[in-house]
Amino acid sequence: QKEEWAKLVNEKSITTDEHQVELAANIGTPNDLDGVLSNGAEGIGLYRTEFLYMGRNELPSEEEQFEAYKTVLERMEGKPVVIRTLDVGGDKELPYLNLPHELNPFLGFRAIRLCLEEKDMFRTQLRALLRASAFGNLKIMFPMVATLEEFREAKSMVDDVRKDLINEGQAVAEKVEIGIMVEIPSTAAIADLFAKEVDFFSIGTNDLIQYTLAADRMSEKVSHLYQPYHPAILRLVKNVIEAAHKEGKWAGMCGEMAGEETAVPLLLGLGLDEFSMSATSVLPARSQVRSLSKQDTELLSEEAIQLPTSKEVAELVEKKGFIVS
Ligand code: PEP
Ligand code: MG
Repeated sequence: QKEEWAKLVNEKSITTDEHQVELAANIGTPNDLDGVLSNGAEGIGLYRTEFLYMGRNELPSEEEQFEAYKTVLERMEGKPVVIRTLDVGGDKELPYLNLPHELNPFLGFRAIRLCLEEKDMFRTQLRALLRASAFGNLKIMFPMVATLEEFREAKSMVDDVRKDLINEGQAVAEKVEIGIMVEIPSTAAIADLFAKEVDFFSIGTNDLIQYTLAADRMSEKVSHLYQPYHPAILRLVKNVIEAAHKEGKWAGMCGEMAGEETAVPLLLGLGLDEFSMSATSVLPARSQVRSLSKQDTELLSEEAIQLPTSKEVAELVEKKGFIVS
């Protein structure tokens, strides 16, 4: 099977009825790029920049960040690269920021919430990103957005930083798409309103599932409630994709779910445009996509979304023969 997959490195991710999707990879550092390229990913769907900030005693400089982002953009040779702005707090700590100790860190001061308060730190990252944009196909993504005000404020900071850089005579790409992670239920619920203002969505199911089912993604005791195929999740995902398409925007997914064999046919049927996963999942997923018809997956997801439980959804996908391995 591995040999069969290897043959697909340069092939398209296209269904038997010629519907093409993008299979991208998630990375944490530029060191992950070898795996991305050898597995034939069509882009980077999530670059988690927090690793640049972790395991050290001070913030990374603009120059250091610029070099990291530029390396990734250059090595991807014009393929789309979605770089997520800093997502710390929650499970990821930065001792040198002296963040407050909170009772519920996952519901607390993290990600975009932190960046909108620590504006100098955020501006430094945005400057590094926009300077790097001249070297490839950059898309900027904000994590943990819960309200439109947060998005608007972050976006206006991007606009200001762009003006500054241009005044300084620095090269900046003409068009840099600005999107958000959809990983908080409030945002999934009003995706239609967000879709008018963002350039794209990427659904972060790791957090979206945790927040929707109120089940800590780290807790063993409630892991049975952490259900990717819960009808509520499928309905939120459908809502997000439809809202994006209505406004002519694209919708991706960068949570673990995007690479799961049971999820791929369901997500294809719901119309997901971009699937971002660990690099090692790309070829198996491509093999699966190439075995499926879009039309069949649409019927499958229509039926799945009416089922009452996660278990029944997973059984349906299996029973209908959508699992190839
Ligand atoms: C997610 O929440 O689905 C996601 C991709 O982000 P992270 O796992 O980094 O929270
Ligand atoms: Mg997340």
